[in-house]
Amino acid sequence: MTTHDEENEEFRDSLATVDSKGKRVWVYPKKPNGRYYNYRKILSYFLLALLFVLPWLEWKGQPLFLLNILERKFILFGFYFPPQDFFLFVIGMLIFIVFIALFTVIYGRLFCGWICPQTIFMEMVFRRIEYFIEGDATAQIRLNKSSWTIEKWLKKGIKHLIFFMISVAIANTFLAYIIGKKAVLQLITEPILLHINGFIAMIIFSLVFYGVFAFLREQVCTTICPYGRLQGVLLDTKSLAVYYDFVRGEPRGKIRKNAPSDEVVKGDCIDCNLCVKVCPTGIDIRNGIQLECVNCTACMDACDEVMEKIDRPKGLIRIDSYQSITNDQHSKINNRSIAYSVVLVILIALEAFLLMTRSEVEVLILKTPGTLFYEAYNNRISNMYNYQLTNKTDEILNLEFRCSNMNQVEFEFIGSKPETIKQGQTEGVLLIKIPKELMDERKINLKIDVLVDEKVIDQVKTTFIGPIK
Ligand code: SF4
Ligand code: SF4
Repeated sequence: MTTHDEENEEFRDSLATVDSKGKRVWVYPKKPNGRYYNYRKILSYFLLALLFVLPWLEWKGQPLFLLNILERKFILFGFYFPPQDFFLFVIGMLIFIVFIALFTVIYGRLFCGWICPQTIFMEMVFRRIEYFIEGDATAQIRLNKSSWTIEKWLKKGIKHLIFFMISVAIANTFLAYIIGKKAVLQLITEPILLHINGFIAMIIFSLVFYGVFAFLREQVCTTICPYGRLQGVLLDTKSLAVYYDFVRGEPRGKIRKNAPSDEVVKGDCIDCNLCVKVCPTGIDIRNGIQLECVNCTACMDACDEVMEKIDRPKGLIRIDSYQSITNDQHSKINNRSIAYSVVLVILIALEAFLLMTRSEVEVLILKTPGTLFYEAYNNRISNMYNYQLTNKTDEILNLEFRCSNMNQVEFEFIGSKPETIKQGQTEGVLLIKIPKELMDERKINLKIDVLVDEKVIDQVKTTFIGPIK
């Protein structure tokens, strides 16, 4: 028996896609077919439609999603998160990491095969185009080994041209999430020289995507992706993953039609190797769980087809846990999953509380650096301030300032009155004036109410400096 035999684990010493001399072994997976592949197609095309459509959607004239790192403007589901709310992002990221860890502990690496954009683009877009143009695995091998005929030039040329065009589309979508759809449309429709930086970024992204999907392929999952590397510590014997049922399958061997009656009854695996041929990472799942397995379930479809043909129950390769296969135990709960769940619930509660209590407008008033107070007309002392208004709503707000701990405090805006832009920041300068006779101290702490339609929406504190008495 080869599976889970601790003395026979040499396969773990090397990658299936690298030969003994360290050279890349190109994987030619056979085109998958079957129930799970059809489910994956539906889910993949739904997720692809979401990915391509979301950055173009707007809500009340603002993007529904924007992750503008350059201008530090983030909009999620129409909610604007200014840099001041960055801590909410950090907590959100922590929740995401704990969720992924928890998901992996229980459901294994299902995310990789079914939801990860790398796998979806590779298997459902680029690989399918390759099958369409060059044929199934054997035809592709034949084509690659053949000399450069017109047919080969044409097939390779068309394939790579389509690959590059799709990479450009992905790069533009990616940019639309970062700089917004308007900027991308300008980049596409206006002369290149007007947007040279954006154009260079778009070309670099396109080349990166093209390189990943045309050449790097499964190497991203097997050697580069950090999530893949984490599997060793996240999975345990109760985790669900794509498993070969070695209890049922071994000893493997071909079915012989006229076998003698005293021949040892073999397991269900007929050693047809189909599960290996369809694997996009080139591994043999019968060796047991491996880091390279992205849980794409292609081998499950292949083996189910074989089982159907030889009239044996499906599911020789299935989503299950090691413990379930060996002991028939189905519990997925362990101390680690309970601990992760508790942390996850606490983080979600904290994030929900912070989101619900976050103010819709934030005001910052700071004394203008390098300025001194001066005596203005009417016996008033005046100080100059810089203000910054952050409006997280999708409405234009007219703000009023009112001092709550002192009477007769005047606010004079230099230029126009502060009007906040939708989901953005406005900055300006204002003068605060106090009658000289009220200055009983050199330094006064002012509490300023920020009002919209006579309703206090924020409170800020600042200091006011006057002459020594
Ligand atoms: S497809 Fe199924 S029967 Fe064929 S080798 Fe793989 S596990 Fe064995
Ligand atoms: S072993 Fe099976 S599930 Fe894992 S990557 Fe290969 S085909 Fe996909």
